[in-house]
Amino acid sequence: MKAIVFEEHGDVGKLQYKDVPEPKIGPNEALIKIKAAGCNYNDIWARKGLPGMEIIMPHVSGSDAAGEVVEVGSEVKSVKVGDEVMVHPGISCRTCEACTSGQEFFCRQYRIWGFQTGPLDGADAEYGRLPEVNLIPKPSQISFEEAATLPLTLMTVWRMLVTRARIQAGDYVLIWGGAGGLGSMAIQVCNLFGARGIAVVGSDKKAKYAKDLGAFEAINRNSQSVRDEVKRITNRAGADIVFEHTGEATWKDSIAALKRGGTLVTCGATSGFIGQTDIRFLWNKQMNFYGSHMGSKGELLQAMKFVHSGQIKPLMSEAFALKDASKAQKVMEDGEVMGKLALVPDHA
Ligand code: NDP
Repeated sequence: MKAIVFEEHGDVGKLQYKDVPEPKIGPNEALIKIKAAGCNYNDIWARKGLPGMEIIMPHVSGSDAAGEVVEVGSEVKSVKVGDEVMVHPGISCRTCEACTSGQEFFCRQYRIWGFQTGPLDGADAEYGRLPEVNLIPKPSQISFEEAATLPLTLMTVWRMLVTRARIQAGDYVLIWGGAGGLGSMAIQVCNLFGARGIAVVGSDKKAKYAKDLGAFEAINRNSQSVRDEVKRITNRAGADIVFEHTGEATWKDSIAALKRGGTLVTCGATSGFIGQTDIRFLWNKQMNFYGSHMGSKGELLQAMKFVHSGQIKPLMSEAFALKDASKAQKVMEDGEVMGKLALVPDHA
């Protein structure tokens, strides 16, 4: 089958579109014909390499996919050939205490499919092999391309805002990267809960995108002061929740933007891993700092109810042919994406 493969870390030139063996399934696994893969920032981290993390080579990236089941193992009961499915990308043992208490991301065997698995085991390919427990039904009203852009982002945002930060009606939520994959989903979750998403973006075009999605306000970080704008919008109180994933470059502003007793929740550090905190603010303002990573299958299924009902929409802005994965990664790396990108193996 065709796949996007890299054998060493580097720029997008390391991505090769080539033939690799089709995956062989075990008794509890299913083989899916991938109709579309979703692009995530972890595709870029994997290609570039991350300190302290082994990326298994040769590597096929891609942690989100939607497709059709074409083969099932002898023990598989919950899916059958012909089913249209989406991938839940958290691979874990499913038997330990963490897994059986809905905290699979704490399982010692936890791996993000297409990021920490391998060799050759991700969504950027014609076929994918997954445990049956990692497949969920695709809603019939959305396309494969749309479905492929949902799971990782949706469950991450759900866990950050709903489970960790306990979002409530009326909350002001400062959302970095408001037009990006996580940020655009965070705006929708704010709307669902009656909270007020304040999107921070890098251009007026992205500000319009965020406002059209329902952001309460949008701040262009390149022409406006985020701190001043948050003060103005919240009548000097500060944000109830800061939605962080941008890291070093934004950390100080994130803390400054928090209201007394407010909650900062983070899942990433796109601009750098070291954030400086004046510890006096932490105690004086009695802030809550939460880390968050991925989400459980239960959280994904909870969030998917709102996709089924149409209250949360997939935000696919462009579908590239699988062979053009490097173009999609470049667009993402340059910070130009609004919403999400998909890769399609059978692209016309
Ligand atoms: P996107 O590329 O879709 O969006 C990232 C956004 O970040 C961009 O739109 C850009 O917005 C903004 N940004 C980038 N650099 C800066 C900066 N220096 N200052 C302010 N804003 C900046 O990526 P995703 O939303 O998919 O992912 C974001 C991060 O979250 C990644 O690092 C990813 O690895 C991580 N992540 C972690 C997960 C986890 O479970 N731990 C799960 C999913 C993602 P603009 O220029 O418009 O301001």
